[in-house]
Amino acid sequence: MNGKIVAVFGNMVMAETAGDVVQNSVGYCRRSDGARLLSEVIRVRGNLADLQVFEETRGLRVGDEVEFREQMLSARLGPGLLGNVYDGLQNPLYDLAEETGFFLTAGVYLDGLPGETTWAFTPKVRQGESVRAAQTLGTVPEGIFEHHVMAPFDLPAEMTVARIADEGEYTVGDEIAILKDADEHERPVTMAQEWPVKRALNVSRRRLMPADPLVTRVRIIDSMFPIVRGGTYCIPGPFGAGKTVLQHITAKHAEVDLVVVAACGERAGEVVEVLRTFPDLEDPRTGRSLMERTIIVCNTSAMPVAAREASVYTAVTMAEYYRQMGLDVLMLADSTSRWAQALREVSGRLEEIPGEEAFPAYLESRIAGFYERAGAIELDDGRVGSVTIGGSVSPAGGNFEEPVTQGTLKVVGAFEGLSKERADARRYPAIDPLESWSRYSGIIAPEKVQRIRNLLRRGNEVRQMMTVVGEEGVTVDEYTEMQKADFFDDVYLQQNAFDEVDAATRRERQAFVFDKILQVIDVDYTFEDNDHARRTFVEVRDLFRNLNYAPVDIVRLKEHMAEGRDTKGQGAEDAEGDPPEGERAENQEADEAQQAEQRDRIETEDRDPEEFWRILERIDRFIATAGGTAEGGRRGPPSRGARRSGGG
Ligand code: ADP
Ligand code: MG
Repeated sequence: MNGKIVAVFGNMVMAETAGDVVQNSVGYCRRSDGARLLSEVIRVRGNLADLQVFEETRGLRVGDEVEFREQMLSARLGPGLLGNVYDGLQNPLYDLAEETGFFLTAGVYLDGLPGETTWAFTPKVRQGESVRAAQTLGTVPEGIFEHHVMAPFDLPAEMTVARIADEGEYTVGDEIAILKDADEHERPVTMAQEWPVKRALNVSRRRLMPADPLVTRVRIIDSMFPIVRGGTYCIPGPFGAGKTVLQHITAKHAEVDLVVVAACGERAGEVVEVLRTFPDLEDPRTGRSLMERTIIVCNTSAMPVAAREASVYTAVTMAEYYRQMGLDVLMLADSTSRWAQALREVSGRLEEIPGEEAFPAYLESRIAGFYERAGAIELDDGRVGSVTIGGSVSPAGGNFEEPVTQGTLKVVGAFEGLSKERADARRYPAIDPLESWSRYSGIIAPEKVQRIRNLLRRGNEVRQMMTVVGEEGVTVDEYTEMQKADFFDDVYLQQNAFDEVDAATRRERQAFVFDKILQVIDVDYTFEDNDHARRTFVEVRDLFRNLNYAPVDIVRLKEHMAEGRDTKGQGAEDAEGDPPEGERAENQEADEAQQAEQRDRIETEDRDPEEFWRILERIDRFIATAGGTAEGGRRGPPSRGARRSGGG
């Protein structure tokens, strides 16, 4: 099917067609020098088709030919995606640079999967077996994962395996199976398959309600505004507030199998930064390069706006692909505002009726459609996989009352809003504890979280009041509330991304420290004056800050926490009745924790492993003596306050 260009305007081309052209199908505009520029049909009116060209349209002329394809803009899925850096059209950027030099040449498209690499295939089905869409036909090792080679996702019905390759080395292009339908029609299968990026890829028994906390090891997220596997969240914030840094921190530490990053159209320097830093980042869990479990899709400054629109879809499609293997995938989009701007430009070119701030009227439904691709699913064989989507939003001037932020807030499950004031005060991560929210429950009991939120709110009120009436104008009790709120903020909400211990806090440690802080807050203080309160909190703040920098053996911490439960009564006998399965799971968990801990210990060799416990003793003494100085004696009679907090 061919057409002829009748108009060129910016990245849009209008073409006259003869045959049927399908919305969202792919076309190639043929430039007079022979270059074929990839385009997508975004509107069809009669025999006119509007195409969005993913390249510079310079050099295209009225009368030039357009070749139309039936296929939609698709991603090629198979082993070899991991560790790659792609542009929005899945061109591998490193290879592309090698092929064409650092100035990208229009019309050059490379296979998204390495064509010559061979993979060690192990068949998992036999000849004569019948298979369904997405069923595993065999596996190949890909980095640290077992990559499932699956039956085509679009199989309409069960098919019979007519041939399956023997164990051996194959490239992605080699035929590894032939499937046959009831009418004996044969369908050859390779390790790679294509999927249209704008259609959600989900072959599953059912969707699950996302409820399993996704631990990012960022305390303010996990404890206060949690996210879950298969859920969605957004990080709106003004320029420079720390959106990109936060995305990088979560890419590194979040407890997921793999991460897909869509670096979308921020300044070119930032994209380069991503490319430069990621390969050097060490995966804290494997000790190897973080890239081994990362895919990056990014827009170079050389790419036009249209490719930006495609890139988030390409990225989420890859995330869904690995979900089909039963993996937990985190997809990060930075920034979705640039993507929305791409929508706006395209819409403008089409002369559609603009909505608010000239964004198209369908902006909200596009945003919703994108986040809807997140989800936890149960595969046909019972395994569970998930795609969690976190998108940053960069509203101009940090004003959240704009269409992209508002449209996003309507659909996401958690809002991690960054505040300019906190960033300016270098209170990182600059997530605003008063404005942010989450609909999910995380690793800390909701009542405890609510108590802290109330405290933070009251602390803020006192601070506001003090700006008007001065410190003398508030009571000691009010002043103490503010000190408590500041204390929590300083030692818990803020986290030093550049310290190897403080940068990432495991869930057990978060739960433990959170409770310790509640004990400190619950102490029944009797302060003589504001100054006394201030001095006391300076002391306890230092203790907790140092605690944050002290490595801890998680297994030992868990034992310590379990002992703490037992001494509170009744627990001692109950422990005997633990079901063996639970125990086994716990043991395995403990083993994993131990191994992870081992690594932490190597990383932080210069830090004393006993330091944590020494500081903890001093904290407990502080609590027992109601904030009195160390002279109060650790075995002295507990104060009223300490008794009260003991049961919490
Ligand atoms: P944004 O993407 O919101 O424009 P960035 O993530 O690029 O902002 O952050 C801007 C700067 O702020 C960073 O270069 C860094 O110096 C500082 N910054 C942001 N987050 C942190 C953090 N968690 N810890 C320390 N510094 C940070
Ligand atoms: Mg940024």
